[in-house]
Amino acid sequence: MLALLKALAEKSGLAASRCPLCGQLTYDESGAPCQACARSLSPRTGGFCPQCGEIFGDDDGVPTTCPDCLHTPPPWDRFMFHSVHAGALRDLILAHKFGRSFSNARLMARLAEEAFARHARRVPDAVVPVPLHRRRLAWRGFNQSTELGRALGRKLSIPVQDRALSRIRHTAPQTRLDHTGRQTNIKAAFAADAATVKGRRLLLVDDVYTTGATMRECARTLNRAGAAAVDVLVLARSMG
Ligand SMILES: [Zn+2]
Ligand SMILES: [Zn+2]
Repeated sequence: MLALLKALAEKSGLAASRCPLCGQLTYDESGAPCQACARSLSPRTGGFCPQCGEIFGDDDGVPTTCPDCLHTPPPWDRFMFHSVHAGALRDLILAHKFGRSFSNARLMARLAEEAFARHARRVPDAVVPVPLHRRRLAWRGFNQSTELGRALGRKLSIPVQDRALSRIRHTAPQTRLDHTGRQTNIKAAFAADAATVKGRRLLLVDDVYTTGATMRECARTLNRAGAAAVDVLVLARSMG
């Protein structure tokens, strides 16, 4: 049935577009996801720590500060995210990482903007994407957090300072390491450009937050360089 519909649609020149996430045929030419995927891309509204986004079991629970943040407050003021790194959101981020597409980029930008609108209390002076080391950048061809940061900067009409932070040390991929390994691995991996950072309120942007070791190191580096404030925005927060 689907094949027939598709064939008919293509033959007649009607909009034969596909859901960018599951490939389902849709009649939406804007590249928006199908209804089922759109539903599963809804934001996380409860059951998380407002300071680091740690996910608790129940998504209708009141946001509550987690024991880690009570013990050691994170090096940023506000933490904003769209939802859990799972299901359609995870598919979207992965699909874009390995097969860059315009409609997925647009969808990710929209989710980032919505997350900002839900959580933000102020518009920052500039967006700062979490940098990739140039060796990995050369291999992948683009930095997803830079792309996301640029889209968000355009929507909020604020500049994107993609040279405010640079990765000065090539580090092993964080995914291969345990918790302690990740913290040691990322330590002193970044440098901030004091001239662009000093006295500014910055919004650090990345696609996925896993243990937060990278984000913490970036925020500390910006704080040390004299940033007036650092907020964090990520699309997806890992479960653990
Ligand atoms: Zn779909
Ligand atoms: Zn927390």
